[in-house]
Amino acid sequence: MKYQLLADAYAKIEATTSRLTITRLLADLFRQAPKPIIARLTYLTQGKLYPDFEGIEIGVAEKMAVRAVTQATGASQEAVARQLTRTGDLGSVVEALLKKGKTRRSVLTVDEIYDGLDRAARASGEGAQALRIAAIAGLLGRATPAEAKYIVRMATGKLRLGVGDMTILDALAEVFAGGKQARKELERAYNLTSDLGYVAAVVAEGGLEKIRKIHVVVGKPIRPMLAERLGNPGEILAKLGGRCIAEYKYDGERLQIHKKGNDVEIFSRRLEKITAQYPDVADLARRYLKATDAIVEGEVVAVDSETGDLRPFQDLMPRRRKYGIEEAVQLIPTTLFVFDTIYVDGKDLTEEPYQKRREVLTRVVKSNARFRMATFAEVASVDELERVFEQAVQAGCEGLVCKATGGVYQAGARGWQWIKFKREYRSEMTDAVDLVVVGAFHGRGRRGGSYGALLMAAYDDKDDNFKTLCKLGTGFSDEFLGDLPKMLRRYERSERPMRVNTRIVPDVWLEPAVVFEVIGAEITLSPVHTAGWDVVRKGSGLAIRFPRFTRVREDKSPTDATTVKELVEMYRRRTKKAG
Ligand code: ATP
Repeated sequence: MKYQLLADAYAKIEATTSRLTITRLLADLFRQAPKPIIARLTYLTQGKLYPDFEGIEIGVAEKMAVRAVTQATGASQEAVARQLTRTGDLGSVVEALLKKGKTRRSVLTVDEIYDGLDRAARASGEGAQALRIAAIAGLLGRATPAEAKYIVRMATGKLRLGVGDMTILDALAEVFAGGKQARKELERAYNLTSDLGYVAAVVAEGGLEKIRKIHVVVGKPIRPMLAERLGNPGEILAKLGGRCIAEYKYDGERLQIHKKGNDVEIFSRRLEKITAQYPDVADLARRYLKATDAIVEGEVVAVDSETGDLRPFQDLMPRRRKYGIEEAVQLIPTTLFVFDTIYVDGKDLTEEPYQKRREVLTRVVKSNARFRMATFAEVASVDELERVFEQAVQAGCEGLVCKATGGVYQAGARGWQWIKFKREYRSEMTDAVDLVVVGAFHGRGRRGGSYGALLMAAYDDKDDNFKTLCKLGTGFSDEFLGDLPKMLRRYERSERPMRVNTRIVPDVWLEPAVVFEVIGAEITLSPVHTAGWDVVRKGSGLAIRFPRFTRVREDKSPTDATTVKELVEMYRRRTKKAG
């Protein structure tokens, strides 16, 4: 197939905004194309060579493309650069330059263009730039002006025809599957494989029948199932038929893990391959995913290396860097909370109800501290749902994802099978608070011999006692940590001090004496901490989420600490409905 046909169609597509016209133009192209090149034709029209998840971009820098254009046209580098500044589009520049020269006949085929661009994309190491320039210049040297325009735009990653994936699926349905009504089934195949070229090739070869047989493939990411949201537990239960699986909503990064024997690939929420960012998770999947082939989904969360507490999403940022991943792995360990499975040992599970998928998961996930099932509870009342919600927030989670027990895995869809219930009750903290140390927990690992975390309380001036608000394990320097036992030793008690009101039993009781300044992310309701118990809600207290030590308040006595009353006011003043 001549590339000229594509160039002509692209020019017409650029000149219209009508989706119908674009679909017709694409359908004409598909009709004329020999079946073996349908996949390539599809990728090229998307401005790519491979599906996104392969992570292979042509990505010729514009400066390099300018050199290819000079080589192919004989124009000076300055002239090309000048015109580029004027028009902003190197494609139009090369088109205009070639129009001035001898008339060229179209000779290039779609395969030749694809192979040339692929050579440029795959060039690496020393001499890669020269190889890229040679590959592009080689194509331009034989192209017509219109073809050259699109070759340059492809090479620099700027094809941007404005053709959406769904429009391509419409055109494929029309040509190979008997009409537009088949679009839904093509879309399903696309959602399961995230590979439009693959879907195009399958439908071109085998029509709808073959499309219906498409299943998930280990190695091709599935477009993720998404959640709706509601702020009211009553409505959530009603939507889910009166009962649901209420699962902790972890605040990290969603990972889709594909395991084939010992090979593990990890994909992001956006279906990019990010295995290199999580070598530790890949290793855990190799060891603790008890299936030969499997696809599972989970949320990876940063955890405090000493206390094992969950850390906020931002702590995963060092994983995004290209270099220094090894250090990030050491410094910021993670836990993966597995919440779904899509495929296990030859069986596509997307049509199975969630309850069943969870059963399969429980069988194949060998849970441990770093690789484990997401915590969940089956609930059938608003009270139970609220209770689990508070426990989730207490555990450092954002809230819950409430799931229909019978829901199938709807790839790529946002539906009512999953409903997220985020921190509706929350109050962002802007001020630091002063809290009293009332207990301590022994440290592990690097904190062995010192304390891993402290139990912190606010002063209740009405009852004249101290009520707990959080465990504090973050923000201490190593030196400070080393000194802590010495600083607190004289306040150690073998029994709970009379004025400490708590539902948590620390390893070491401490007489309320020392005041620390603490800053947290927000104040939330809590099922375990006693500050403000029964005040905002019956059977709940208040807690500080993500507390961090800032300094010692030697100038304050315990009764000068922030009071429970103040905290309730802070909570009420700043509580807002989560968006
Ligand atoms: P989107 O819903 O489009 O992903 P978003 O980024 O705002 O939008 P969230 O509000 O964070 O998403 O809610 C959905 C996300 O919650 C999931 O994509 C997943 O990353 C995360 N998540 C955490 N725990 C769970 C769980 N137990 N089940 C499902 N998803 C979970």
